[in-house]
Amino acid sequence: MSDVTGPIATLPGSRHPVPSGMKCDDHPERDAVARIQGETDSFGSEMHDLCAECVADLKQAAADDRGGRCDWCKRDALDLRPLRDLDEGMYGPVYYVCGDCSRSYHEELAAQAAEYDDQFDHDWDEDYPDPIDEAVEWWRDETLDPNGRAWVSK
Ligand SMILES: [Zn+2]
Ligand SMILES: [Zn+2]
Repeated sequence: MSDVTGPIATLPGSRHPVPSGMKCDDHPERDAVARIQGETDSFGSEMHDLCAECVADLKQAAADDRGGRCDWCKRDALDLRPLRDLDEGMYGPVYYVCGDCSRSYHEELAAQAAEYDDQFDHDWDEDYPDPIDEAVEWWRDETLDPNGRAWVSK
């Protein structure tokens, strides 16, 4: 059974723990093996509960369907991926941007984070994950996977 959440910091395509006993959205007789975050905006997201076959289908559809217009540079691209602008907050709108925009955005973030680390000594960092560090890490993972970070199963 799918579900709707309140405001959520993770991006579409993220995997979440499947509530126990959950069945596939399309195959009520099968157990769900993954809960995948769907459409997401500032108000919340949809969650899809899927069996292994449905996960494979969705993965394929996501890989095939990454074309469109980049929300940031307005150019047509074949490698759109979901992204938030941290300046708009962890629960802000989700944009679909091209690989070039994603790269320059994250490189800038990484540079800012490095500068910040040089200037301040922040031990509290370990207890409170820094959203900038997390975003940069997320992006590095994504660049390792040609189909996009969204489908790396962790
Ligand atoms: Zn299914
Ligand atoms: Zn772009």
